[in-house]
This record gives sequence, C-alpha cells and structure tokens, in this order.
Amino acid sequence: MINRDTGYVFRWADFEFAPGAIAALRRLTVAGFPLIVITNQSGVARGYYTEQDVQTLTQQMTAYLASQGVTITATYYCPHHTSGTIAEYARACDCRKPGPALLLQAASAHDLSLGDSIMIGDKESDIKAARAAGVGIAYLIDAKHSSHVIPPSAPNGVFADLAACVDYFLA
Ligand SMILES: [Zn+2]
Repeated sequence: MINRDTGYVFRWADFEFAPGAIAALRRLTVAGFPLIVITNQSGVARGYYTEQDVQTLTQQMTAYLASQGVTITATYYCPHHTSGTIAEYARACDCRKPGPALLLQAASAHDLSLGDSIMIGDKESDIKAARAAGVGIAYLIDAKHSSHVIPPSAPNGVFADLAACVDYFLA
C-alpha cells in the first residue's frame, strides 16, 4: 500500500513507492496521526532474505520518508510462515496478519487506542487483522474494486489508492 507490491522486495534499490503515497503519508503526519507500519514478511521464513534485511530496508524507508516530511512512528513485521523453509520461522503464529498480535503490540508500545485507530491495508488479511484487534476503522486499498465490491470482512471503505483514501478521510 506504501510501496508497489512487486513480490518479496528487500533491497532499497528495488523499493518503489506507490504513486501519491508519500504525499498522502505527509498529509497524515501533518494532521498529527502517528503512523505505524505492520507488514507480513514471509520471505524471511521462505529463506529469500533475512530479518536483518527487513530491518535495514525499514531503516532506509523510514529515513527517506523522514526526509520527505513523513514520520513513521514504528514498523512491525512478522517473519513467519507455516510453509517456510527456515526452521526457526516455519510455524503458525499470531503476528502474521490476519492475526492481531502486531497491532496489539504496537498499540501497547505506543499507548494508542485501537478503537480510535485506522487501518489502511491492501489485502483482506489487513482488514481481518484490524477487526481482530478492535481497530475502529479499516479501509481497503484496491485499485480493481474501488467503491464497488465489499469483501466479506467488510471494510469501512474501499479506495483505488492511498491518496484517495486520505482525501476522503481528512475531508
Ligand atoms: Zn508471525
């Protein structure tokens, strides 16, 4: 949703922000919202890259966004997957979305009220994780189905991209 999902990206050189995403995030920062990134990184369990790679990419993304006026308060990632090939990560967990564990951890660590929080995600698992954690509002970014099809987990709104979502939300 922040970046183009081109599949298991772990190098900053391959990281591409979605069109309009930086400006939309800047508007949220200016409006005073703490921004928390919650990301499934099963590429760790699958052996495509390491936790250190995830942490390095996170630092690069966060530093770049800071230079663009966007404050990322924290990033949480799940390195697990049941069909992973790296033994220590190949398991079921509560932190992989749609599990709520990382949302609960973020709220606790940063003293955030989940009921007053908003999830913006681009997969149904994001919406389900928000529901499971008690997040007040969940918006789905889906370029193919904007404003038409409401998936079973029923987001509060469906938008073609992050900019459209933030336009609506801050209006
Ligand atoms: Zn996990």
